[in-house]
Amino acid sequence: MKVQSTTTQQDDHFLISNYDYKSTNIEKNGDKYIAKPQTTNFKFKTDTRIPKLGVMLVGWGGNNGTTLTGGVLANKFNITWNSKRGTHQPNFYGSLTQSSVIKIGTCNTEEVFVPFKDILPMVNPCDIVFGGWDISAMNLADAMNRAQVVEYDLQQKLRPYLEKLVPLPSIYYPDFIAANQNDRADNVIPGNNKLEHLNVIRKNIADFKQLNNLDKVILLWTANTERFCVEDPNIHGNAEKLLKSIESSHPEISASTIFACAACLEGCSFINGSPQNTIVPGVIELAEKAGVFVAGDDFKTGQTKFKTCLVEYLVGAGIKPKAIISYNHLGNNDGKNLSQESCFKSKERSKKTCVDDILESNKVLYPTEEELNIDHTIVIKYCPETGDSKKAMDEYIAEIFLGGRQTFAVYNVCEDSLLAAPLIMDLLLLCELFERIQFSKDTSEFQRFDTVLSWLSYLMKAPKSESGITTINSLSRQRAMLENLVKVCAGLTIDDNLRLEVRYG
Ligand code: NAD
Repeated sequence: MKVQSTTTQQDDHFLISNYDYKSTNIEKNGDKYIAKPQTTNFKFKTDTRIPKLGVMLVGWGGNNGTTLTGGVLANKFNITWNSKRGTHQPNFYGSLTQSSVIKIGTCNTEEVFVPFKDILPMVNPCDIVFGGWDISAMNLADAMNRAQVVEYDLQQKLRPYLEKLVPLPSIYYPDFIAANQNDRADNVIPGNNKLEHLNVIRKNIADFKQLNNLDKVILLWTANTERFCVEDPNIHGNAEKLLKSIESSHPEISASTIFACAACLEGCSFINGSPQNTIVPGVIELAEKAGVFVAGDDFKTGQTKFKTCLVEYLVGAGIKPKAIISYNHLGNNDGKNLSQESCFKSKERSKKTCVDDILESNKVLYPTEEELNIDHTIVIKYCPETGDSKKAMDEYIAEIFLGGRQTFAVYNVCEDSLLAAPLIMDLLLLCELFERIQFSKDTSEFQRFDTVLSWLSYLMKAPKSESGITTINSLSRQRAMLENLVKVCAGLTIDDNLRLEVRYG
């Protein structure tokens, strides 16, 4: 695709697009609003050179880590496999960047769509070099077998590739994850000195980058959900205090925070795929100083994605959700870890906040704080027989016209890691792309996006935002934000769905 427009310029290295952003400034005058439309000029500069990308996964030997690595290799080497349903070809279904499309315009009256990945130059997932850590020493072929996610025939075909891949020893602070994980912790960096741990991880990153001749590396936490650390401004409040607390091996420094610090100090962006509060203020300051991104928290895969859609639909239709009761049972190692109350609490928090802003936006339905306090209950049970095929059962009770009730009972089988793996890939590919984009407002210098990469919120259950920026949970708004950003950077027109060119020529 090539954009021919007077508002874009392209040379060998950069694509610059000029964008008049239209917004509306609202002034409140008593109980009246005065709306003042305004236009601000932005320029977006995208470095079009695609780097050689390395990805280091924390929890590489887990269900997500093995499924992602094996799935990418299956695509890279075009490995087919058989099941009782026949012969299967590898694909990237479930990946926003690889398998969804974006409308770029109309040809006569026909709408034209192209793959998301073709709007701006992006890394091909098959070119990613994977590495990482796990507290379990199992090679990735055996770990994939342990995970029981991927079809047996594909596991066998991937074995020659995966058995060579062995996770690096990791940091293990048993107090932060469930006690039931202890029996797999046979690959840990010895000692209790957190500064030494940080330095080992930093060296691992530097060595990985050099050994594989990489242009850049991104770290992603897909290890067990930790309990929340007890956040304290004196321990985690800024970069200096955080590094001092690591030096003194403070007990409230989690393994995930050590990884986040190591990433920043090695000039790598860090993504937190679990719900715990890894990205404390000190991490954000370290990332800011290093000019890298942090993003989190918790992958938004099956149940929560659906929840944010359904609640948005109800509230958008003027129907008032009054209760959401969510049961999950799952039998994978994630579920086993979540069976400990402290780890479950982290998950409960991220699952619960995901509809707040959607409800808060509608003051007709929810005029008071009290009414916003709907029954939102989360139950998670570990049931080994279920394996990775997590079952999510949700009941939505909503108030309709004249005091009536509408109830949805939704049964959702979320094949956990088969949903998470393509989403993890999107997080990595988009994070890498956003490292190559800069913007300028009016005539200001070009600058990178804010350190907390909230552009990725579509992929996050509890999206972290820059301070002062409200979080958006609505799935359609999150997707539109991403789609519009890449279109604007490419110099394409944003779609307002009026379709006037089709209606009136
Ligand atoms: P998993 O238990 O199969 O894998 C986690 C891996 O992390 C294990 O191999 C474990 O040995 C390893 N590990 C634990 N502590 C570690 C440490 N300190 N350093 C390195 N490795 C460590 O879990 P999973 O199903 O792959 O999920 C991973 C994470 O993603 C979980 O926290 C889960 O809550 C989160 N998540 C998953 C989904 C999904 O749909 N699969 C959705 C949202 C969030």
